[in-house]
Amino acid sequence: MSLLSTPAIVLGSIKLGEADKLVTFFTAKRGKLKGVAKGARRMKSRFGASLEPLTHCNLVVFEKPGDKLARIDQSDIVHSFQKLRENWGEIQLGSHMVHLVQRMTPEAEPNPSIYRLLLEGLTFLENGADRQLSAILFVIRLVAYSGYQPRWDQCLKCRTLLTQPKIYFSSGQGGTVCPKCAEGMERLASISQGTLAFLRASQKMDYTVAHRLKPSPAMRLEIQTLFGQHMTYLTGTPASSWAAESPLLPTRP
Ligand SMILES: [Zn+2]
Repeated sequence: MSLLSTPAIVLGSIKLGEADKLVTFFTAKRGKLKGVAKGARRMKSRFGASLEPLTHCNLVVFEKPGDKLARIDQSDIVHSFQKLRENWGEIQLGSHMVHLVQRMTPEAEPNPSIYRLLLEGLTFLENGADRQLSAILFVIRLVAYSGYQPRWDQCLKCRTLLTQPKIYFSSGQGGTVCPKCAEGMERLASISQGTLAFLRASQKMDYTVAHRLKPSPAMRLEIQTLFGQHMTYLTGTPASSWAAESPLLPTRP
């Protein structure tokens, strides 16, 4: 038996029994975990309110060897992201971020970079950052931190350097290809050299600094298409909507 005390972000919850909740949360120490919160659905429960999706909280979780589900004993709100929840566009994108982390991460595998990214992503949204840019930077990093980082410098097939004016991204192969290798391939998105430069630069920068970049509308569209296809492939969720309010993120199934 062990007691885990950790900061966490609530990813989602479902009803369980009469008054309980099954909560999925992402922790700084242990990655994605699931736990039962007994009595969390009782009227005016502060415990329940602290376990709403997107909430940044401090959890005390009780784990028993052999039990698949932990028990959430205590939860204190660090930040509820109330301001973010009051704005339709922000809450929609915040929910997509949380949903993507849920889909992209295995259980009980520590990934402090993703924990930090989710917290920063939600904080930037709440503070009124350029929504589309925030979404782009979030997805680029989430893919990289999940271990699916494409190479932006050379063709994945023939290894030549990508200096041509227009190159391609293959979501099926998970990387960039030169025009010659792209012939006959399916599921391709085209990328200009300007977009390629943005992708290389934004990944080297700190998340805050990267928000000062100003990609053109054409570059944003290319990145949106490229990562939309890539995320669809990685998560198996169709990207059927490219609405301005949910840039480049797949729609919920
Ligand atoms: Zn090639």
